[in-house]
Amino acid sequence: MPDQHLLPDVIGNTPLLYLRKASELTGCHIYGKAEFMNPGGSVKDRTALGIIRAAEQAGELQPGGVIVEGTAGNTGIGLTLVANALGYECVIVMPQNASEEKISQLEMLGAELLLVPSVPYADTHHYIHTAERVAAGRRKDEAHGAIWARQFDNPANRQIHYDTTGQEIWQQTEGKVDGFICAVGTGGTLAGVAGALREHNKDIKIGLADPMGSALYSHFAGGGLRAEGESIAEGIGVSFVPGNLAGLELDFSCRVDDDEALPLIYDLLKEEGISVGGSAGINIAGAMAMARELGPGHTIVTILCDSGSRYQSKLFNPEYLWKRKLPYPHWIAN
Ligand code: PMP
Repeated sequence: MPDQHLLPDVIGNTPLLYLRKASELTGCHIYGKAEFMNPGGSVKDRTALGIIRAAEQAGELQPGGVIVEGTAGNTGIGLTLVANALGYECVIVMPQNASEEKISQLEMLGAELLLVPSVPYADTHHYIHTAERVAAGRRKDEAHGAIWARQFDNPANRQIHYDTTGQEIWQQTEGKVDGFICAVGTGGTLAGVAGALREHNKDIKIGLADPMGSALYSHFAGGGLRAEGESIAEGIGVSFVPGNLAGLELDFSCRVDDDEALPLIYDLLKEEGISVGGSAGINIAGAMAMARELGPGHTIVTILCDSGSRYQSKLFNPEYLWKRKLPYPHWIAN
């Protein structure tokens, strides 16, 4: 009898890729968890599954029920796929400036899509606040339940990374891991993996790679929630402290400029055949910064959150990059 895997069964258990150039340049062993190989193409498939399973267990969702979420895209894609597989509906609220690829993919998957203006978090029309209102409205007349996935402070988000991503990294490195670093969108990945790894070995260093435009670097440095500059990386960078980060202590943190992250993405694709999106570029730059801090010979793991193909119209569009004075891939520069 062949295996009869269903979609939720094939989320996670992603390979750990060796990042050759990043390792050579730093004298460390740098690995990237290939989260772009999840069925929905990103690390957020794990979050989607974790949140839906937790809601089922809490009795908040029966087949035919509705899941509402505010998301820059990847969580929406993960939630919609898992919802389709398990018999739920999805309403996704996203900012209008999300990449065309993500918007058209969500339409293709059959999510009910609500595009709202891209406004600061303090504005009540921000996509996260809108999602909360939409969920509250649907809950009133939905016989099978309606949940707001609230990935920023839903403990199920952090928990799934503790249960799966963190344990996988420990096993795949055979416990020989010295540091883990990544950027924060909801903080589920960073906090969940940190919890799992530190439980195995309290000396493992945990780091934050913060893109420009995010306030977390300043927050962890004791300077309050202050942001500087901007980044084209989607899905990461926040102007508030997500609930997932409660109690998290960092050993290392750095700020990463797009000018530094983008060439890493282009080189990784051209020289190692690995295609990743903007947040993975920030993560690799962060892993290299951590490697320089720890010194040669250490093993550092980061996350390759999604694929470059999700951002063809931005990361691989010379006109888009040129207008923003950003570096572009040398092989499409002429
Ligand atoms: N990269 C991308 C492309 C994402 O969509 C997200 C999710 N927001 C992240 C990184 C960050 O992951 P997390 O939400 O676990 O902090």
